[in-house]
Amino acid sequence: MSTYSLTHLSDQILLDGLSALLADDRQTAAALLAYIAEVDARKLYLPAACPSMHAYCVRVLHLAEDAAYKRITVARTARRFPVIFAALADGRLHLSAVGLLVPHLTEDSADELIAAASHRSKAEIALLLAQRYPRPDLPTTLHPLPAPALSVELAPGRVAAAPPPTTTVVPLAPQRFALQLTIDQATQDKLVRAQALLRHQLPSGDLVQVVDRALDALLDDLERKKFAATPRPRAGTARSKARNARHIPNDVKRAVHARDGEQCSFVSEDGERCTSRSFLEFDHVDPVALGGQATVDGTRLLCRAHNQFAAECTFGTDFMQARRAQAAMEADVILGLCGLGWSTADARRAVAQSAHLPATTLEKRLVAALAVLCPRSATRCSDGATVAAWAQLAVGPAPTSRKHCVAALSLPLRLPVDFLVEDSS
Ligand SMILES: [Zn+2]
Repeated sequence: MSTYSLTHLSDQILLDGLSALLADDRQTAAALLAYIAEVDARKLYLPAACPSMHAYCVRVLHLAEDAAYKRITVARTARRFPVIFAALADGRLHLSAVGLLVPHLTEDSADELIAAASHRSKAEIALLLAQRYPRPDLPTTLHPLPAPALSVELAPGRVAAAPPPTTTVVPLAPQRFALQLTIDQATQDKLVRAQALLRHQLPSGDLVQVVDRALDALLDDLERKKFAATPRPRAGTARSKARNARHIPNDVKRAVHARDGEQCSFVSEDGERCTSRSFLEFDHVDPVALGGQATVDGTRLLCRAHNQFAAECTFGTDFMQARRAQAAMEADVILGLCGLGWSTADARRAVAQSAHLPATTLEKRLVAALAVLCPRSATRCSDGATVAAWAQLAVGPAPTSRKHCVAALSLPLRLPVDFLVEDSS
């Protein structure tokens, strides 16, 4: 059996093994840094024909350049403050944490800073340092960049794209952050237009305030769409509640959003709550298929990962994988139908109404949905090949508009229902 195949292990043994290996890894990493620090101090890289410890790490030890830089920096710092070795060995600090602390470590501050940074993420430590060592604000600027190098020549005939510009948010001081980003011409035009339209309220045209107001408007819109937030809430109607068992009324959404605090509500067996605020979804505590109701108590906010995990715990992994594959295929069919010119609402309706038909491939699934969209009273066509070609066109890599399909293939606007239904069986 392969050392790296762990499928035979129980969940608990797997988790215990991971923790034990990580503990070993931290001890080894701390010892490795101690060795790097000592080799560096003795300049043992020089007899190995390396001009620096970094060169030795890269050329002789075959570490990646950035990994070598980080380890040497941490090793040298830990040599000055040996308490860092212990903190790395027992997992209180990670390498990135020490890298962030380095500029601020002194004989007086080391113990206290290391304690404050213990078991903190990189982002949390950056915030902590910004609070203790505030930096001045950056100037707000909007200026064109020099023309970028579109590609980097690696070797004759081999060209790699230049790395994309990065967006960064860096804590500077308490309550102050530096945001740096690169925008395209269209975004720049929107920014300038918003600036111009706001001039009566914001004569200075301050970009920071323009962006702040834009975010306010965006958040209002997103909260309204995702959580049914509104300044004038109305109770859900009996009609909307009765329409669909999976439907969650807006008043329930608002109450659940207020209760769960815009955070995944999943709690582990030992009481840890998931911290995710992204990919949040409303979930029935008891699945609808098992009688779950869309009440406030019967609904919760989960991140997508925990929503899927909860479903797998209830229905089993295989069942949920099959459901997800089916959902992915349906999404492709909707995309294909929209590419042929139908509205998203029509495409969704067709997919829902044809869901009972046995169709195992994307093309057959699409044909089944097309049958719903083309009434029996429509123009009849006996040419099955053109129907298949139309379906093929819709699932192809570049769906075009229905009008273009019709023009290109001389197809009737309506498809032969009899053929379609037979084809999907
Ligand atoms: Zn979660």
